[in-house]
Amino acid sequence: MSRNDDRYKKKEQLENQAHNLHFALISHIARNILPGGYWRKNIASHQDKSTLHLTFDDGPYPETTPALLDLLDEFGVKATFFFIGKHIRLHPDLALQVLERGHDIGNHSMTHRLMLTLSKAEIEREIDDTNALITDISGYKSRLFRPPYGLLDNRTARMLQNRRMVRVYWGAMASDFKPIGTDKVVERILQQIKNENLIVLHEGGNKIAGQTLASTRRILQITLDKGYRFEPII
Ligand SMILES: [Zn+2]
Repeated sequence: MSRNDDRYKKKEQLENQAHNLHFALISHIARNILPGGYWRKNIASHQDKSTLHLTFDDGPYPETTPALLDLLDEFGVKATFFFIGKHIRLHPDLALQVLERGHDIGNHSMTHRLMLTLSKAEIEREIDDTNALITDISGYKSRLFRPPYGLLDNRTARMLQNRRMVRVYWGAMASDFKPIGTDKVVERILQQIKNENLIVLHEGGNKIAGQTLASTRRILQITLDKGYRFEPII
């Protein structure tokens, strides 16, 4: 390895550490101020440190969903897809395939707006219209809700409680909704699963599709090799 390679590697490691520290701090604050929900190891049956949950946000996308399904089959792993309602409307066949192949669908709102800024009626529509869409195409009733940008307040928390839905926050994050490169995504996630068991990756179009697929493959290879198991969230 040349000196330049070495310097580049060090710079990248520092950037990843800064990224992860930043998220650990935000997560720490958020766990104390947001309404209770699923973060990590806080549901009795998930105390086991070697258990991970793999989640994909923002789909379905034709660039990622079908290829992810094949990849997950290859590794024999089940995941949870947090779908955006308006994306399901464009690709209902992909949402149906996810369920048919044994994975779970969580509700990630209809339009991916910040829930804190919405009126009660708007929040209700974001949750209920997406639930109805999932049920219409598959007969399935989604039990999980992950708020866009991770944030919700007591109004949304109460509505979800009334609908017997579990609030799912985040865990290991890599800012992979931007094209940052597979190496960074993998390293950030692997560092964070020492303290987190909820892996959050993002689906998307051509800009990040290759990165998401390659990262998922490497993360699965490495974690399975280390003896981690993947389980559904509930
Ligand atoms: Zn999202």
